[in-house]
Amino acid sequence: MPDEGGKGGRGRETTPRGAGRAATGRATPAGRQGDRAAPPLPPLREVIHRHGLAPRKALGQNFLLDLNLTRKIARLAGDLRQADVLEIGPGPGGLTRALLEEGARKVVVIEKDRRAIPALEEIARAWPGRLEILEGDALALDRPASLAPPVKVVANLPYNVGTELFVRWMTPPAWPPFWESLTLMFQREVAERIVAGPGSRSYGRLSVLAQWRARPRIVMTLPPSAFTPPPKVHSAVVQVIPTEPVCPADPKMLERVVAAAFNQRRKMLRASLKRLAPNIEAVVERAGIDPRRRAETVSVAEFCALAGMLARV
Ligand code: SAM
Repeated sequence: MPDEGGKGGRGRETTPRGAGRAATGRATPAGRQGDRAAPPLPPLREVIHRHGLAPRKALGQNFLLDLNLTRKIARLAGDLRQADVLEIGPGPGGLTRALLEEGARKVVVIEKDRRAIPALEEIARAWPGRLEILEGDALALDRPASLAPPVKVVANLPYNVGTELFVRWMTPPAWPPFWESLTLMFQREVAERIVAGPGSRSYGRLSVLAQWRARPRIVMTLPPSAFTPPPKVHSAVVQVIPTEPVCPADPKMLERVVAAAFNQRRKMLRASLKRLAPNIEAVVERAGIDPRRRAETVSVAEFCALAGMLARV
């Protein structure tokens, strides 16, 4: 299963479904307590059968049908009662139900598979005014306008677009970002790349982007058998909380230097970065780094120093 590469076009239309009904709703505090008792909804297997939701590999569809598990993931996102939640790829809605049960003020979902929309509309009817359904490609929609802060992003991400979405959430035009936390299911290998430190084989571009101005950690791992159908690999939930940058750097320059360095991770920095400046060896030395080192040994702070030196060239 690929973890990268689904580059759906930006700017594609995303169609709100049932949004008029849901977008304005706000549960009262008393209502929220009551909302914790889930309204009766059919078992997810029945929903999948009735709506013809046979899983499609091309859409990264590995569903979570165990509602105890989806509840556990929703709880990992913290107290949802004062937050709007953005969920990408709700599918038949197992995680969506849990987010609503846990008292999310509002849940906005973006789903590409039209077949799932009627199933999601059933959930919206069960939780009036709390669920907004957007049909479309999450890559075409950075931030639904109806989300009000604080926003938590919680998703069992489709593997084909998960990395791309994560990079976008970590590189917005302004910091702090629109989200106050990300709670995301990835392939375990991708999760390990996000939290890895220098010297580890998993350390790379995702690690530096995630750790420069956020605190990422793996909060749960799941075996393939947790999903229907089971994927080939284990999965893990990563939680990311934004922080102040750990070192000063221009975001664009930092992204450039990190991308170049890890694009040729086996090469020495003096080779992998040579396109960034004519006298790259001297620039790297001025940043206090031996130009014979490889990207995977360079700490986040050292990448900041490199970006700073390159900005002056
Ligand atoms: N959240 C559900 C669950 O946990 O059972 C489904 C998760 S499944 C791994 C990924 C979901 O993302 C599928 O429902 C799929 O249709 C949807 N999806 C795939 N690509 C998408 C995209 N570009 N934008 C929005 N949704 C997408």
